[in-house]
Amino acid sequence: MALSAPRRLLARLRQVMASDAAPLDELVRLLAGELVSEVCSVYVMRPGEVLELAATYGLNPAAVGRTRLRVGEGIVGLCAATQEVMNLADAQNHPAFAYRPETGEEPFASLVAVPVRRAGRVVGVLAAQNRAPRHYTEDEVDVLETVAMLLAELLVASGAARGAEEGIAATVQRVFSGAGLSGGIMQGPVVVQGGRPIVRRLLADDPATELDRLTQAATRMQRGLDELMERRVPQAGADNVATREVLSAYRLVAADTGWLRRMSEVIQTGVTAEAAVLRIAGEIRDRMRRITDPYLRERLADLDELADRLLLTLTGDAPAAPVPPGAILLTRRLGPADLLDWQARGIGGIVIEEASPAGHAAIVARALGIPTVGGVRGVVDAAQPEDQAVLDADEGRLILRPDVEVSQNYARALETRSARQAEWATYRDRPATTADGTRVTLMLNVGLALELDQLDATGAAGIGLYRSEIAMLARGAVADVAEQATTYARVLEAAGTRPVLFRTLDLGADKVLPGVTARAEENPAMGWRSLRVGLDRPALLRRQLRALLLAAGGRELSVMFPMVATVAEFRAARLLLEAEAKRVRPAPRRLRVGTMLEIPALMWQLRELLEVADFISIGSNDLVQFLFAADRGTPAIANRYDLLSQPMLDLLEQLVTEARAARGGVGVPVSLCGEAAGRPLEAMTLVGLGITTLSMPASGILPVKALLAHLDLTSFRPVLTAIRRAESSGQSVRESLLSWAREQGLPI
Ligand code: PEP
Ligand code: MG
Repeated sequence: MALSAPRRLLARLRQVMASDAAPLDELVRLLAGELVSEVCSVYVMRPGEVLELAATYGLNPAAVGRTRLRVGEGIVGLCAATQEVMNLADAQNHPAFAYRPETGEEPFASLVAVPVRRAGRVVGVLAAQNRAPRHYTEDEVDVLETVAMLLAELLVASGAARGAEEGIAATVQRVFSGAGLSGGIMQGPVVVQGGRPIVRRLLADDPATELDRLTQAATRMQRGLDELMERRVPQAGADNVATREVLSAYRLVAADTGWLRRMSEVIQTGVTAEAAVLRIAGEIRDRMRRITDPYLRERLADLDELADRLLLTLTGDAPAAPVPPGAILLTRRLGPADLLDWQARGIGGIVIEEASPAGHAAIVARALGIPTVGGVRGVVDAAQPEDQAVLDADEGRLILRPDVEVSQNYARALETRSARQAEWATYRDRPATTADGTRVTLMLNVGLALELDQLDATGAAGIGLYRSEIAMLARGAVADVAEQATTYARVLEAAGTRPVLFRTLDLGADKVLPGVTARAEENPAMGWRSLRVGLDRPALLRRQLRALLLAAGGRELSVMFPMVATVAEFRAARLLLEAEAKRVRPAPRRLRVGTMLEIPALMWQLRELLEVADFISIGSNDLVQFLFAADRGTPAIANRYDLLSQPMLDLLEQLVTEARAARGGVGVPVSLCGEAAGRPLEAMTLVGLGITTLSMPASGILPVKALLAHLDLTSFRPVLTAIRRAESSGQSVRESLLSWAREQGLPI
């Protein structure tokens, strides 16, 4: 595909932009000439998501400033809503066509509309029309796209495109909901990240100079990233493996010369280095919208953010303005490197319009403990510089300009919370025991080395689930045996005498690593994932098992396999481990081989399973998903099926009973390691059923320990049985359990 409009057109546009004449009128006239179209029009986005005809060549000039279309209305509105090019030979018979008599557009059959975007947001639409039915060629569309890119800068520079809220709307409370990426609650003033710098010089007549500027800026940017790694990462916390892993991947993307080469090609067509960056950034965003693979999207997001960095470097990095301490950053996007910059400037909370829980910014925010909410549309435009806000990242919410009562309520809640946290802290060094003396083992779920600090911080009894795939996902590739062994040895060292249950790679479904699980599947959660991949590609699994054995270096080693559906699979995996164990010296003092119980089918193979597995760890996240056939990531059904319901509790009770009786009454240990273990009400119920080893996120350990310390198990057990009997089949027993816990004054 050609990369830009002909130099002749760009040269003319440069003259137009440099002159004081009405540039939009000239632009549409020139463009109509270039495309040999009878009509060319520019629509500009106004507040309230309305597109207004701002300039036209060929339509009735009186319609300028009068013709307005909502986003989604008519072909032009549809183009803005979908951010897709509309190329129609017979526009008037398209179902979305909206007739506007004032424009006099009846005689035009064909229409092409191109979104005018800036930093991923539509700021207008550029359209051309012809009387004769025709399909616009790829080259013509390309000309329009290049001009749309120039137009975006022109509109924003002239202030013609306004997204920010004005008038009364800018003074009242507004609540935005998204996903909590890193928990915590805070209040403070907002700081709005302005987005891309405005580029005023877009056209150039000396490609050599522009190429030189691009190369120099790229080098400066690289150097800046290197310095950031050196200076900021060591300051950001005691152990920054996660942050370092993410930033190394980011630096690799920056060093890739492919995207710089593409920019150089664009420069050759007569635009400035800045315009070339903008053009390629636009292409990257287009690809991002089409690609659903989370890993590839994350790589493209890195590139997109690097484009911003490069642009800033090109336009001359202005010194950063001071930030009020504890302010909340509102931004459309945020790269991991930018996040470190902002943290150093004193930001206390973050709201990102476009970000996912698995994204790099989320990983770094969690590692640094900065409350962060992502996936919140429209917040940047809605905020004004002096606004106050409440950030409730636990609930995934930002309350902009909170009403006085809301703000006071949060202030009170924060006070209570810090009092409660102070109370919880007193439990750190106490053993986990119920009020009537039953010992409970509370362990930690760990994915990144950074979380190892939490062992001491929470007083956890060990690591009940080490998710070995997480470090590889952060790294973006499978590590070799030596690297893996180093990672696992670090985990064992941090745990010291505390036990660690290593889980082998659980890739697939939402955890995609290219080259391992990048198959397109209709139901990836139930597809070729996890142990299934390991058994089909035994070399991958054996390498991991060898690394685990090497890391153990003669110490005790516990390994478990995820997503086991049949005893035969478990046996096959166990054989691989035992074969490796024969080759590695020193052999582990003791090798314990367990299974996760996530697939209900195992319940009908329990007798045999309990003979061959040394322990069972219930993965309740997946078990609930598969028992109720309810996707764990779909918000619409998130609260529909409950772990605290009769089918699930019956299943758990049966498992506990059979495991206790197994092996002639010696029993097989059972623990539970889903997120539910970290919620006090669930933990209370599980302990009531006899599951006394729970593994959970760090945030759960102290609250669960505090609750258990108040729980009298002997009085709770009969209550639990009665409540389970009273509820009709399949119903949640949560409310009844909660009422009982409150009546008892338990800290729930
Ligand atoms: C589970 O399924 O409950 C579990 C602990 O594994 P993951 O959440 O990693 O799938
Ligand atoms: Mg699971």
